[in-house]
Amino acid sequence: MTRFVHPLAMRRLNVGELLDSLDGAVIPGGCDDCDAEQRVERIRHLGRVTKITVMHDDDCPALARKTGRW
Ligand SMILES: [Zn+2]
Repeated sequence: MTRFVHPLAMRRLNVGELLDSLDGAVIPGGCDDCDAEQRVERIRHLGRVTKITVMHDDDCPALARKTGRW
């Protein structure tokens, strides 16, 4: 059996390297009321800022509550 080890798993990452490795990641979840996904984005021109945006389904009741669209 051949086992693949990702190069990033070969050593400990500092927080910045870890967040850099997650740049562009789409992670399922983030809302209990819909099939949301979370999008991770590093904002390099702002230094150490990482933005995680929760993308809700258009008909999500939690999103409607938050935006007052009832
Ligand atoms: Zn939602």
